[in-house]
Amino acid sequence: GRKFVVGGNWKMNGDKKQISEIINTLKTGPLSPNTEVIVGVPAIYLEHVRTNLPQSIEVAAQNCYKVPKGAFTGEISPAMIKDIGVNWVILGHSERRQIFGETDELIAEKVAHALEAGLKVIACIGETLEEREGGKTEEVVFRQTKAIAGKIKDWSNVVIAYEPVWAIGTGKTATPQQAQEVHKALRQWFCTHVNADVGNSIRIQYGGSVTGANCKELAAQPDIDGFLVGGASLKPEFVNIVNAKQ
Ligand code: 13P
Repeated sequence: GRKFVVGGNWKMNGDKKQISEIINTLKTGPLSPNTEVIVGVPAIYLEHVRTNLPQSIEVAAQNCYKVPKGAFTGEISPAMIKDIGVNWVILGHSERRQIFGETDELIAEKVAHALEAGLKVIACIGETLEEREGGKTEEVVFRQTKAIAGKIKDWSNVVIAYEPVWAIGTGKTATPQQAQEVHKALRQWFCTHVNADVGNSIRIQYGGSVTGANCKELAAQPDIDGFLVGGASLKPEFVNIVNAKQ
C-alpha cells in the first residue's frame, strides 16, 4: 500500500512567532499515524523548525541547487540540508518554474543530485490554465515527468506532486474527478515508461487550493495519495487535511 503523505508548503511565509504557533498546532494534532507529514520551510528557518518539531514530522527545504558546494552565491546544497538533519526537499514547484525560470532540465538535474546526496524529493509538476484549455494537460505533465525520468533510476525516494497551476492560490480546486483523471494517467505513464512496480508504488499528491473542506473527497480518489498544501498549511485546518484519508 501507498502511505498517505501530506506536505505543507509554507512558501515565503512565516516569522518566528507564527512558526511557533504552527509548531504548537502540529504538536497538539492529533495527526493520523497512517499519514506521513512533511512541512516545507523557508531555508532560513529550517534548522529552527527541525529542532523544535518531533521526529515523527518530517521537514523539507523548498529548493536547493544541483551540486554539493562551490561558488553559487545565494544557493544551498542537499549536503547542507542533510547536515542540519532535514531529509526532504521540494523541487520544481510552479513558482520556481514560472517566477524564477527553472527549466525541466534544471529541475531534473536538481532531483538527481538531491537523491544522490540522500535527500527525499517532492517533485512538482502541473499545467497552466492555457495548457489545460488547449487540451495539453497530459502532454505537459508527461514532458515534465519524462525530464526527471531521464536523469534518475530509483524512484523509491520520490513523491510526485501534481499541482495544476490554475488551482494554486486561486481557491479554484481541481474537482476530485479532474485530479483523479490526471493522477491515473500519470500512474499509467510510470507503468509504461518506467515499470509497473514504480507505477503502482509511487505516491502522487494533489496540490492546489486544498482545504479542510475539500480534502476528504479528494483523498477518497483511488490514485490520490496525499496533498501538497500551500495557504491552508499555515492554519490549524492543516491538521484536518493530514487526517483526510479515511
Ligand atoms: P495553495 O494550497 O495555497 O493553493 O498552494 C498550493 C501549492 O502551491 C503547494 O505547493
